[in-house]
Amino acid sequence: MATVMKTNSQLLQIALLGNPVLRKKTKPVRDINDQKIQQLIDDLLTTVMDVNGVGISAPQVYQSYRICIVASHPNPRYPNAPLMKPTPVINPIIVSHDEKIEKGWEGCLSIPGLRGLIPRYTKIHVEYSDRNGKRIKRTFSDFIARIFQHEYDHLEGILFTDRMETNRDLISEKEYFKLLETKHN
Ligand code: ZN
Repeated sequence: MATVMKTNSQLLQIALLGNPVLRKKTKPVRDINDQKIQQLIDDLLTTVMDVNGVGISAPQVYQSYRICIVASHPNPRYPNAPLMKPTPVINPIIVSHDEKIEKGWEGCLSIPGLRGLIPRYTKIHVEYSDRNGKRIKRTFSDFIARIFQHEYDHLEGILFTDRMETNRDLISEKEYFKLLETKHN
């Protein structure tokens, strides 16, 4: 099992909105055991945990590969997020989804300071390889399904702002935190 994090993993720089790497369709990973790929997975894990993010994708760190991390956990931005172990997802496909769509707030490490209200499927059936190359089949719902769809979009060169129904669903992070407060009091 290669799940022990290497001590030489490093923080990676995040590509910001406007950088062409975020708009490129990414390449499938051919050899998951490749040292460079394993290092990239470690670095993505280190980076997403450092910024307290719930997900990150390889193109966001300038690596145009079909790799992302899904790392749902409660944090100030998403107090009700379910807790899961940060999960590397390689060469994913969304096999099918239920019809139900819900709008929910999303942000993106590549689009700092903004939040969008984004429609997503509430239940998806997916397939991906884990970091050992084992093919995994899973069903995700609600917030984790939302993260998965957001990260999957990154692999296709799609950003959350592309999914908004109207520009009125885009707000500043400051106003988003005010909304959260009114919801919880
Ligand atoms: Zn993002």
